[in-house]
Amino acid sequence: MTAQPMLVVGSVAFDTLHIHGKTHARVLGGSATFASVAGSVLAPVRLVGVVGKDFPDEAVRDLESRGVDTTGLEREPNGLTFHWEGRYADDLASRTSLCTELNAFADFHPKIPAALRDTPYVMLGNIAPELQLEVLEQVRAPRLVVADTMNFWIEGKRDDLAKVLRRVDVLVINEEEARALTSEHHIVPVARALLGMGPKIVIVKRGEYGAILFHDGEIFSAPAYPVHEVKDPTGAGDTFAGGLLGYVAARDNVRHDTLRRAVIYGSAAASFCVEGVGLSELLRVTRPELDQRFRAFRKLAHFTSEDEVLEEEREERAPA
Ligand code: AMP
Repeated sequence: MTAQPMLVVGSVAFDTLHIHGKTHARVLGGSATFASVAGSVLAPVRLVGVVGKDFPDEAVRDLESRGVDTTGLEREPNGLTFHWEGRYADDLASRTSLCTELNAFADFHPKIPAALRDTPYVMLGNIAPELQLEVLEQVRAPRLVVADTMNFWIEGKRDDLAKVLRRVDVLVINEEEARALTSEHHIVPVARALLGMGPKIVIVKRGEYGAILFHDGEIFSAPAYPVHEVKDPTGAGDTFAGGLLGYVAARDNVRHDTLRRAVIYGSAAASFCVEGVGLSELLRVTRPELDQRFRAFRKLAHFTSEDEVLEEEREERAPA
């Protein structure tokens, strides 16, 4: 089986992060960057985004060294790269956006190079829904389209977002945002309402509590990997989505059992992401390491069924 390519569209950024009293200034980030690096561990990735004149060639080389095709990464010669600054609470569970400088991203309209328009797997990273729609106008007959979104667009661009949802296969969304979008509270009514908006697959991310997949009348609940130390949660959601789609692209099918494993691969990639600041850990993760963590997940959530226990007891009681 040959891994199929995936297209990732979203932000490529410099992030300034305030975590536990320390400032990490202008580290490489962005929704598309995290998703691309995570996806690239599993499948060839084609990145579409924009950066400014301040974006270092070295960062482009880092992405290319992971097998990320950067022909769709535009460089705005007169602009600066998107910059986001955030401060995390002590428990790292919540954060405040201190500043969002769109810079080159302000006038960005994704242009999918002709050679990339047939890419079978498409990730619409967290960008304005109207830009996500522009991507959908340019790609040709993708096998699976995954979309991510955030509060900013739920509050400000609800109508455009509704149009996106009618046209995508998978929505990946965090729990708080899913509640805001549906006005429901409990996870099952939330998911039912989201499925009613268009996507046939909904995955709700619950941070350190894992993720839940809703598909084809089935529910699959995945834990998050209990890492020893969370250094920086930035990008964990994008990494999850990138790892998830990377696995689907590698298997080249969208069967329910593949999706379940994809949720675990996404969670495994996200667990590496939070172990380093910015992309530092994710950029060095290898396929064998990701596979090993996948196996650790299996052990984490494995339990014996009541039927198996009864069967064992019957065998023990049976005369030799
Ligand atoms: P996450 O932690 O998964 O929500 O993703 C964080 C990444 O999203 C950071 O690397 C930021 O650069 C990027 N980001 C923050 N705000 C925006 C925005 N309004 N549009 C696109 N990307 C953003």
